[in-house]
Amino acid sequence: MVIVMKAGATAAEIASVIKHVESLGFRAHLSEGEERTIIGMVGDERPIDPSSLEVLSGVERVLPILRPFKLASRDFKKQNTVIHLRVKQRTITIGNSEIAMMAGPCAVESREQILETARLVREAGATILRGGAFKPRTSPYSFQGHGEIALEWLAEAREAYGLAIVTEVMSPEQVPLVAKYADILQVGARNMQNFALLHAVGEARKPVLLKRGLSATMEELLMAAEYILSHGNYEVMLCERGIRTFEKYTRNTLDINAVPVLKQLSHLPVIVDPSHGTGKWEYVIPVSRAAIAAGADGLIVEVHPNPAEAWSDGAQSLTPQNYRVLVEQVRRVAAAVDRAL
Ligand code: PEP
Ligand code: MN
Repeated sequence: MVIVMKAGATAAEIASVIKHVESLGFRAHLSEGEERTIIGMVGDERPIDPSSLEVLSGVERVLPILRPFKLASRDFKKQNTVIHLRVKQRTITIGNSEIAMMAGPCAVESREQILETARLVREAGATILRGGAFKPRTSPYSFQGHGEIALEWLAEAREAYGLAIVTEVMSPEQVPLVAKYADILQVGARNMQNFALLHAVGEARKPVLLKRGLSATMEELLMAAEYILSHGNYEVMLCERGIRTFEKYTRNTLDINAVPVLKQLSHLPVIVDPSHGTGKWEYVIPVSRAAIAAGADGLIVEVHPNPAEAWSDGAQSLTPQNYRVLVEQVRRVAAAVDRAL
């Protein structure tokens, strides 16, 4: 249920409605729009008579949210969620007209590697540096990431080049550690339905990049986002990173449909990962152009100074030179759809 307050509702009226909602055993989530305040009423789906809420002072109307995801829904919040990252006097915004450019290696391999990649992607036009310190690998014998020391190298790159950091967190216990260094917490595709992790990042005060599971429907992705929002963290980005299909020429099938569909269903920013979405570097640039044309709010791209020697995902990693080409092409597509980098 959403409670739409009257345009001139006072703070006392809003507080009193929240108190009433909580007394009924629901959680109240406030969304302050440009014109009106909306109160999302979330909890057990028990029958409740909307007219009992409509009589409260300051309430204009009460509407049911018919979708299973509530706080993530456009029915709850009409305006796009805009996330602000502050890095060394600079503000990076995600979800408005600006396209967020995230780039970096799959894994942080060494201090030199991450600092060099940071410099090169920064020069090319990226504003957010990616790189895994904790890697979810299919095989337990593959490189699992350098852990905390890699987070320190990422922080050093942040300081040196003024880039925000996005990096994966794999378990609830890791959240405080990763949140100490990262500007954005990445929840990987394999963990999209790790509910304990979603709960933990929902309590963190850092934006979350939530990647779509390998075989997850869009509704399951939105329900996973709902877990994070329902724990009080409203800064969630949805990431389309390709799904499993019968197709073998590419690693995954990037679901371009997800971009307009998620934008329609939800107010949350949508980020596209063309690297995991295709698995081959040759396709990363054309698919990036398509993502921006379709309305994506940003791209997360794997870039390695020497892809042939990458410890993971070299085949889908761009050289810094090709990343520059990507940025220039995406800049032109963005302009064609009234966006900018
Ligand atoms: C990654 O970003 O390197 C990664 C492991 O992605 P995903 O969770 O989408 O497979
Ligand atoms: Mn990767």
